[in-house]
Amino acid sequence: MTPGVLYVVATPIGNLADASPRATETLKSVDRVACEDTRTTRTLLARHGIAARTVALHDHHERRASAALIAALREGQSIARVSDAGTPALSDPGAWLVAEAHRAGIRVSPLPGPSAAAAALSVSGFPAERFLFAGFLPSAAAARRKALEALDLPWPVVIYEAPHRIAQCLDDLRARFGDSREILVARELTKKFEEVARLPLGEAAAWLAARSERVKGEFVLVLAPGPAEQRASLDPEKVLALLLESLPPSEAARLAARITGAPKNLLYRKAIK
Ligand code: SAM
Repeated sequence: MTPGVLYVVATPIGNLADASPRATETLKSVDRVACEDTRTTRTLLARHGIAARTVALHDHHERRASAALIAALREGQSIARVSDAGTPALSDPGAWLVAEAHRAGIRVSPLPGPSAAAAALSVSGFPAERFLFAGFLPSAAAARRKALEALDLPWPVVIYEAPHRIAQCLDDLRARFGDSREILVARELTKKFEEVARLPLGEAAAWLAARSERVKGEFVLVLAPGPAEQRASLDPEKVLALLLESLPPSEAARLAARITGAPKNLLYRKAIK
């Protein structure tokens, strides 16, 4: 008997039209759809006219219920694993079933698609040749502040936060990284009341408080890279040109070198040209 395939299917993070044609085809064709919450997934299935057999596989009993699904896969059935929104296993259940499938020698195939982390990063404008996905920070205040200690990195950091902790989280970020470090606040992405704001941490609390409904909804934060990356993104020649407007060449070159990390001699030669 040829075993079936476990498809790991990303689903929309708000706008149900974001389900890819391949995702909907797969959800239509598999024998079962393993869901986090069957009610949530049924809304998506109904929107695309899919009459699939759903089975609940939420966090609490994923391990127990996985055994039956692995047995079905061994018997040749195909299964799609979805979570309530976005990419399964990414701050969501899903990894256990996938690991069991690997152990059982069953083919696992991804159907990539929406993820709140990638969506927020894509509209941040921060250089993201690399980034850290921090997921949800610890909810206890002391543990959260400790976790922030490790997040001063020269690349962007993506954080998921629950609406009832967003104000506190922004406060903690400001206390740790200072007023001028930028943050991208991405709220209700792909939904009717989507908001994307890139602003200094010192202004984030006021932005959040400016409209009372802002503290509701779903949030992703992207913390700007720390100083090393910011320096790399500055153009030494532009910095030099600005400083030359009010400083002599040697002083402008010295400061431009300190600000951008570019060699002072090189900048001085450009300055006297
Ligand atoms: N697996 C999902 C993914 O791929 O993004 C993440 C699931 S995690 C349980 C839910 C968190 O993702 C929310 O608390 C929020 O931080 C973020 N999120 C999900 N949908 C979002 C949206 N439409 N706008 C902003 N953040 C969202």
